[in-house]
Amino acid sequence: MLYGKWRPRGFDEVVGQEHIVTTLRNALATGQVAHAYLFSGPRGTGKTTTARIVARALNCIDLHQGEPCNRCGPCQAILKGAALDLIEMDAASNRGIDDIRELREKIAFAPSDLQRKVYLLDEVHMLTDGAFNALLKTLEEPPPHAFFILATTELHKVPATIISRCQRYDFHRVPNSAMVERLRFISEQEGFSVPGEGLLAIAIQARGGMRDAITLLEQVVARYRAAPSTEDVLAALGMVHDDRSEALALALVQEDLASALALARQVAEDGVDIARFTRETIDILRDTLLQVLGADRPESPRHDAAARVAPAAREHGINPARLAAGISELARADFRLDPTNPVPLEIACATMVLGTGVLAASAPVPAAVPAAPAHSTGAVAAGLQRPMVRGLQWQRLRSRERSGG
Ligand SMILES: [Zn+2]
Repeated sequence: MLYGKWRPRGFDEVVGQEHIVTTLRNALATGQVAHAYLFSGPRGTGKTTTARIVARALNCIDLHQGEPCNRCGPCQAILKGAALDLIEMDAASNRGIDDIRELREKIAFAPSDLQRKVYLLDEVHMLTDGAFNALLKTLEEPPPHAFFILATTELHKVPATIISRCQRYDFHRVPNSAMVERLRFISEQEGFSVPGEGLLAIAIQARGGMRDAITLLEQVVARYRAAPSTEDVLAALGMVHDDRSEALALALVQEDLASALALARQVAEDGVDIARFTRETIDILRDTLLQVLGADRPESPRHDAAARVAPAAREHGINPARLAAGISELARADFRLDPTNPVPLEIACATMVLGTGVLAASAPVPAAVPAAPAHSTGAVAAGLQRPMVRGLQWQRLRSRERSGG
């Protein structure tokens, strides 16, 4: 297991949680350690790993500026999972009042093989009300040798009385750049050669969870050997792009509804997952919008596609606010009933082009704008009529489709 092998052994190896590890390291170095910590945050962001580092640092006999040595007897015992005084409980399976009562009965006894007893309660939000009450009493007056680390992915389910007894740390999703850096380091150490774009794709797929990212890297390498291409990585992750999503994005910024509908129909006939195809199109349009606004994201996986769509968008005088509205129209398309049905995508495309429009020229004149000078009223009137004209085209298009033309 690659993840187990590269699980951080010290605070300095925990990725993307600098705000937490710096504080913890300082507290441990100066001996100002709280008796109860609450680690909250998404899965795979390092809560349990950090808790075990804290457990080692609390018991290490050769602590260096808050970092455990990982060599002394206590450190080794914890690393091997053999320390009796690091008590790890999964609150998902030990959630009742009896489990916490048992914990309370034993907590008074002095530690047996370490200096300090450390209780790690994972998924603590799963405890029952009775168990929380029993735990609260323990947290109010813990014996000097006992330390608690509670971890949860769902902070809102933890009672405020418990939260107020703990020093709280919120773990964040790990930024893609930090994940790529760590994945690159692990790849180098393992002798893998994965292109940067491939590592970025893995990071994106892992959604800020370092553990998931490393597991995905392992899966990719298991399938494509040590030197996968970017295409291999995308295929392994199920992230192969359909070029037609770029064509659809282009058609939409050009307000070419006929082409957009033809693409949607064609993709559906090929049995492509329309929801996924729509998401791809949204990704390109979102990056297009950013590029039009001058807020480029070169690290985005659809940057290149957007770079090809953005010039067309500018050329057609795109209105960023309306493009944003159009993107949200696409995002609202609901494919839950039938992921192969193109109709929600078609309706979203039609609304985007006909309903809101993406061109600056078809923007309605705000009421607060003073009356235009006489010589320009013709242009304004023409602008106001455009959506109607397009509406007629749309009707014609639909009737042509009905008659099989
Ligand atoms: Zn040590």
